[in-house]
Amino acid sequence: MKTLMLLAVAAVLVFPACLQANPAKPALEVVVLGSGGPRAFGRAGSSFIVVVEGTPRILVDAGPGAFLRIGELDLDLDRVDTVLLTHLHIDHSGDLAAFFNDRALTSDGPIAYRIFGPDGAGLFPKTSRFVDLLVGSGGAFAYQKTFGARETFTVRDLAISLDSARTKIVDENGLVVEEIATHHGDCPSVAYRISYKSAVVVFSGDMDASALPNLVQLAKNADLLIFNCAVLDPPGSPSQLYDLHTPPKKIGQAARESGVKRLLLSHLAPDVEGQEDAVRKSIRASFAGSVAFASDKLRVPVGN
Ligand SMILES: [Zn+2]
Repeated sequence: MKTLMLLAVAAVLVFPACLQANPAKPALEVVVLGSGGPRAFGRAGSSFIVVVEGTPRILVDAGPGAFLRIGELDLDLDRVDTVLLTHLHIDHSGDLAAFFNDRALTSDGPIAYRIFGPDGAGLFPKTSRFVDLLVGSGGAFAYQKTFGARETFTVRDLAISLDSARTKIVDENGLVVEEIATHHGDCPSVAYRISYKSAVVVFSGDMDASALPNLVQLAKNADLLIFNCAVLDPPGSPSQLYDLHTPPKKIGQAARESGVKRLLLSHLAPDVEGQEDAVRKSIRASFAGSVAFASDKLRVPVGN
């Protein structure tokens, strides 16, 4: 026994932890592809890749610039078959076709996508129609389905009424995805909760404060809440933006009420950039957990 202990101590001395083989991979990891919104000021539009035990699996939104960041990060897309769209504004979906293109050209075989996004209303098509307009027969990029790899698309339109129940949409091998309707002006929108091996991350998407009760319910006790932060506290941003986005003070209150451990602010607007201290102070008034600001290509481990 004593010899074994000595050997173990010797191994640690010879191979420091950072050099030992197979360090534990986090249960989940979020890779920020785009931390910005609709304005072009150096950040890609909103987009994330969720890595499950070291393997990229889920694309959350596909804002303009996501394609570029995927290449810069040299991300292996070969197991990314699930796409979660929070809503269909261009700054969240403009690079979806470019993502399909790149994914197909790096694939060894057929790809079966499952895509989730909000039902349609007003000027916004339902997600299944949106995907059809892109890559369906008669769609703008109909050729994509056979370009590089044979692709199939299963698309589910999610309920958008605020009184719709929280719904589980993926449950396989311990990976669970749930969603709930939110509210983003006239644009149908949803939020997502991804869980794996007790690690939990929640994506708010873009939402105004009227949907906070739903978001608080979805984010209950999550390890990480990624909240889109596109406005300052009133009157710091144009008044019409408060019908679309949640200000920092209310983000802090929602984080506290949901009991989340960490908050990552993304979808940063030019107004918000440079006001980090004021935003953090406003959130700190109610939330005691850690508060960080996203940047493109940031990697955030969740769990373990
Ligand atoms: Zn947006």
